[in-house]
Amino acid sequence: MNLLHGTYLDFYKDITEILPKERVFTDPLHTLAYGTDASFYRLIPKMVIWAQNAEEVSKILKLSSSMSLPVVFRAAGTSLSGQAITDSILIVSSRDWNKVDISDDASLVTMQPSVVGADVNSKLLPYGKKIGPDPASISAAMIGGIAANNASGMCCGISDNSYKTMESMRIIFHDGSELDTASKKSIKKFTETHGSLVEGIKSLSLNVKKDKKLHNKIVRKFKIKNTCGYSLNALVDFDDPIEMISHLMIGSEGTLGFIKNITYKTVPEYADKASALMIFKNIKDACDAVIKLKTQCKENVTAAEIMDRTGLRSVENKEGMPEFLKTLGNEATALLVESRATCKEELDKNIEIILETLKDITPELPLHFTKKEEEYTLFWKIRKGLFPAVGAVREAGTTVIIEDVAYPIEDLAEATLELQAMFKKHGYDEALIFGHALEGNLHFVFTQAFEEQKEIKRYENFMAEVANQVAVKYKGSLKAEHGTGRNMAPFVELEWGTDAYDLMKSIKQIFDPKGLLNPGVILNDDKSVHLKNFKMMPKADEIVDKCIECGFCEPTCPSNMLTLTPRQRTAALRHMMSLSGNELKEFKKQYQYDSIETCATCSLCSMSCPVDIDTGSLTKKLRSEQIGKLGHSIAGNMAEHYSGILSAGRVAMSGVKWINKKLISNEVMTKMSTTLRTLSGDALPLWTKSLPSGYKFRGKTTLKSEKKVVYFSSCINRTMANPSQNDDELPLDVVIIGLLERAGYEVIIPSNIENLCCGMPFSSKGYTKEGKKKSKELEDELRIASKNGEYPILCDMSPCSKTIASNFPKDLKVHDTVEFILEFLADKLEFKQTAEPIVIHTTCSTRKTGLAEKFEQIARMCSENVTVPTDVGCCGFAGDRGFTFPELNRSALRDLKSSIPSDVKYAFSTSKTCEIGLSEHSGIDYRSIFYLVDRCTK
Ligand SMILES: Cc1cc2nc3c(=O)[nH]c(=O)nc-3n(C[C@H](O)[C@H](O)[C@H](O)COP(=O)(O)OP(=O)(O)OC[C@H]3O[C@@H](n4cnc5c(N)ncnc54)[C@H](O)[C@@H]3O)c2cc1C
Repeated sequence: MNLLHGTYLDFYKDITEILPKERVFTDPLHTLAYGTDASFYRLIPKMVIWAQNAEEVSKILKLSSSMSLPVVFRAAGTSLSGQAITDSILIVSSRDWNKVDISDDASLVTMQPSVVGADVNSKLLPYGKKIGPDPASISAAMIGGIAANNASGMCCGISDNSYKTMESMRIIFHDGSELDTASKKSIKKFTETHGSLVEGIKSLSLNVKKDKKLHNKIVRKFKIKNTCGYSLNALVDFDDPIEMISHLMIGSEGTLGFIKNITYKTVPEYADKASALMIFKNIKDACDAVIKLKTQCKENVTAAEIMDRTGLRSVENKEGMPEFLKTLGNEATALLVESRATCKEELDKNIEIILETLKDITPELPLHFTKKEEEYTLFWKIRKGLFPAVGAVREAGTTVIIEDVAYPIEDLAEATLELQAMFKKHGYDEALIFGHALEGNLHFVFTQAFEEQKEIKRYENFMAEVANQVAVKYKGSLKAEHGTGRNMAPFVELEWGTDAYDLMKSIKQIFDPKGLLNPGVILNDDKSVHLKNFKMMPKADEIVDKCIECGFCEPTCPSNMLTLTPRQRTAALRHMMSLSGNELKEFKKQYQYDSIETCATCSLCSMSCPVDIDTGSLTKKLRSEQIGKLGHSIAGNMAEHYSGILSAGRVAMSGVKWINKKLISNEVMTKMSTTLRTLSGDALPLWTKSLPSGYKFRGKTTLKSEKKVVYFSSCINRTMANPSQNDDELPLDVVIIGLLERAGYEVIIPSNIENLCCGMPFSSKGYTKEGKKKSKELEDELRIASKNGEYPILCDMSPCSKTIASNFPKDLKVHDTVEFILEFLADKLEFKQTAEPIVIHTTCSTRKTGLAEKFEQIARMCSENVTVPTDVGCCGFAGDRGFTFPELNRSALRDLKSSIPSDVKYAFSTSKTCEIGLSEHSGIDYRSIFYLVDRCTK
């Protein structure tokens, strides 16, 4: 649906001549969903374009500039200040624009704009390196956004941020022209073609350097973290205008140009670390401790995170939190101090120095550093839980706001106490404070409704007072790391004064004379822009009402390059609450495919969600609500006559396989199946060459023994052979029973096995009642077979064992493949590592049950050369959705083939359906890990 007119329609026509239409979105669902970011502002773009290379961005910019249409760049959309939204054209860097190049000595890393921060760090880890910037959002945020916001976090301070660690950058300017600051040729050409830009910046710098007052102000303001306004320090730190240009781009929030790629100097990632959760009697003592750490032993401290009493209280009742939190005094304040070092001796020395430095301040509890991973992980869990804690307890319909200010360190104590008084005065009783105290950088988090004028006024008054206190009284930074956006734009002049503000305006004019790049962000004449375009958060469904739209769920979602992500599914659902009539009908129609049909319900999103939302369960609920009486009656019948259904499926699959083997080639089968599927309006499943033949479970056992085990083979494994099963290859149940017997177990197959199922094929489609019924049947049979849990029970497919674990009562334990191999086979069989390279795929269920590392451990027990592709998450096959919505599987596995070294011939996983999709998209036949264990223990 295209609702454009006028110049936007002309732009659309022209741009779709250059870019495929599938990557240019103008319909209500996609513009709303893709336009959503983590801030509490909402603008809906007229058009969203997914760009996947520099040439495309350059063409878009040329065209938009010629038509005077504003554009905004978007990386991961985790920004909090309203700098990544627009009501014009949104250019989203495609997730696939994510190449990483590490220099031979790993001192430099070059990244394309869509590289996720945590991904590059995991690539650098083997070299003992990482990138400098370390925002808490690093698992979702992308390099384009990290650099353009000059994002930072707990450790990087002002010495390891993008500004300080950038080596060079490739920039695309408003007119589509390019500059590579690492290339002399490119600099020469750019200087010739854009002499006025280069000279303009040089001349601004000369003026600043002459103006002592302004010069000194700039130097002073960047002694602490500052992302309010432009990086004016570029004009005083450098003499080369090209360096000034690239450094001005840092923190420019997409208002000066597009970062095509960036090279950072890497920083060391030390393995030896220790943390102390120091509890002081009050905020003053904690701040005094920070000042001592900062001024007397800065080199020995990596991070010092402050947490006020309200913050500690917000998490003290959460599972696993230390009991002592509940016993602390009313004013108690925590300081989480971390030290890292190159070796153990250096770490011990650091700890000694830190404790010596703080010896004159009497803490509420004795100071103690721990090097134990489980202990310091718990401390950091407290710290990381603070922001979500507010998000999770807020009333539905309100927004959670996180502010980000910095004070000169010497004023930290006084300023923090005043801040707490301001919360009281304005009625923000729930507001809590935490932050990177070493840098004087505090975050305060509070909840806010924007539906009533009275509430907006309260927010306005509060922010005006905060702005005055931070910027005027303490000469601090109104944004230390989150960027100015629309949120602080009205206060940039207040913070910087007219001279510096005019300088910023000149910079913008020189880079972007038409003012088309992210207009209104950083600089804005509207002094109440921070009070406009608030995002409404109406109640939509209790499963997702707590969603703060942070976007942390997006990188792991298998449909993130096909349709929607969990955040976008929620944003769209919320938006529907304000629609009616035809508008709602049309929106729902699209939502059906983009949200409900193409969600893999893998629930990986819940693992990265700070407020524990599982969007997969929302999808299941929505699917369930759509099922009518007839649907339930059919499903009920199928559940009742399950063995018959499986037999029919078995025969059909074998028939199709026979036709494929004997009569029709793969190519023709693919064509025929694609045509039939198209003709059926996608109702018919797609045939693929990896579709297995039917298989009839044998369950033949031979050994009698004292040691017994119950083997429950899932209905999938009982009905389907392996993808492209070789004639000389043993079926899975034969391999498993062989292994179990070799380990000395008598194998018990539950009676009525033909009819048993964990219930997942029903519940994942919304047939909750029917799923529960199958689960209960299985439980009853397994109780009998295992003598009520006396014998261990093995389930041979991970998604099924996970379903069983969540459905069964705790007293009946069913072991997943991975657990079972390690617990019941590893000590009874002799493993012999092969030199053959292998690849493994960790299923979502294995990840969610915390067995990923153990799965890898098994693979490494069997092979010296194991590849675990880092760019592949959920395979998107989603039970049988891989047949009915094969595009989801294809999209999720688009990086699989290129992630597998060419010499790998064997691939393993723990779920047959995943293995079908994985085989199809990798060209290697995936098998159950039992085959590998079998080969390596013979
Ligand atoms: C829960 C939570 C915690 C956070 N914690 C921190 C923190 O600890 N520290 C911190 O600094 N921030 C934090 N943030 C804010 C935010 O995550 C970071 O600033 C992050 O770096 C933004 O990256 P992004 O990929 O999401 O960028 P986006 O939000 O997509 O974009 C950021 C800005 O960069 C521009 N942009 C994007 N790509 C390009 C490009 N290629 N060229 C030029 N401009 C571009 C956009 O127009 C926008 O103005 C947090 C956010 C959330 C939701």
